[in-house]
Amino acid sequence: MRGSQPVIMDIDMDIKECLLESANDYTVGASTIGAMIVSSGKERLWDERSGGADAVDTVVIHYMSAVDVVPGDPYNLGQLLKIFCDYGVSSHYLINRDGEIYNLVPEGMKAWHAGLSIMPEPDNRTGVNEFSIGIELLATERSGFTEAQYEALRGLCVGIEGRFSKKMVYVGHDMIAGERAVALGLRKDRKIDPGPLFDWSRIPANIIS
Ligand SMILES: [Zn+2]
Repeated sequence: MRGSQPVIMDIDMDIKECLLESANDYTVGASTIGAMIVSSGKERLWDERSGGADAVDTVVIHYMSAVDVVPGDPYNLGQLLKIFCDYGVSSHYLINRDGEIYNLVPEGMKAWHAGLSIMPEPDNRTGVNEFSIGIELLATERSGFTEAQYEALRGLCVGIEGRFSKKMVYVGHDMIAGERAVALGLRKDRKIDPGPLFDWSRIPANIIS
């Protein structure tokens, strides 16, 4: 990407759009995701990036599940989307256990996935949401990740690098909002995702020279 051109989304056919905005009619119980967002006083769960889309140079890997809400169905899409609404957080992408990819926030916009955060040394930039793409893999602390998820993640990351015309830096949420962020007084709680079960050899930075 050059200059101030907007991000041209060239989403692959197998990426399902499910934007976290008022028009989202995905039904959860007696409500829709859009109605939940509106009732929380918002129109969408993202902001403009203060540095514009050109600022994007980082991908943050996360995992999440709904295990605390529905222990018997931790990967229920509706419940997961409801968690974003309930907590006022978001992520650009969600990859389910079958490797299906959902686009929740436009890449050019700032999603609310990293929270108070600082890049590893020597980068040390804070406020990682401003310049990153967030990807949530559906998993629990002990489940590990499926082959389908790794395959989908690889394709997604290659697509992101293609759309932004640059190599991305890949970090885990635990690397930017973990022990170091707590020790520096940036935050009280320590994020542990994607954790030791995530295989970093499977992401493009480590595959493509
Ligand atoms: Zn996370």
